[in-house]
Amino acid sequence: MELDTGKPLIGEEEIRARVTRMAEEITRDYRGRELVMVGVLKGAFVFLADLAREVELPLQIDFVAVSSYGADTESSGVVRIIKDLDLDIEGRDVLLVEDIVDTGLTLKYLAGMLRERGPASVEVCALLNKLDARKVDIVVKYCGFEVPPLFVVGYGLDYAERFRQLPYVGVLKEKEGSGEES
Ligand code: 5GP
Repeated sequence: MELDTGKPLIGEEEIRARVTRMAEEITRDYRGRELVMVGVLKGAFVFLADLAREVELPLQIDFVAVSSYGADTESSGVVRIIKDLDLDIEGRDVLLVEDIVDTGLTLKYLAGMLRERGPASVEVCALLNKLDARKVDIVVKYCGFEVPPLFVVGYGLDYAERFRQLPYVGVLKEKEGSGEES
């Protein structure tokens, strides 16, 4: 697979503007409360860093890490916790921050796990949403962009740990003329 270096799917400016609007919405909704933002590693690290700096609320930030697709582009449906929260979230308002919701399996599992710990609330914020790929119902309260069922990289999202540093969201495509599958 290689990066389609044509027009980005979502450009840097478009992302910046949308993240600002999402931060304003979150600031308004949680006014007067302290929020625990939980980033899902590794893909959400760029989005969370930008979002958190624009949310005008007292914040605590934590991360969870779950197993990913590795070098494959297909969801295995298996969710494994690699790093749990450091914070106690009992009685707290929690915002799960994810890079992309695809089948929804990861967030369904994570939200369920966090709700068992007695938080005041758990909501989901995702930069990207692949609605067509959904296998389970999950409410994404704050959603950046709807994207088509393509494999996207950049702005934190990887392919075999590459492309996370791109400031925009791009699409991976088969290498031209190679006939390769991956
Ligand atoms: P889900 O459990 O919703 O199927 O998958 C969510 C996770 O799969 C995301 O956090 C992300 O790590 C990975 N994922 C799903 N679609 C894509 C994609 O198009 N590109 C990349 N890089 N990762 C994806």
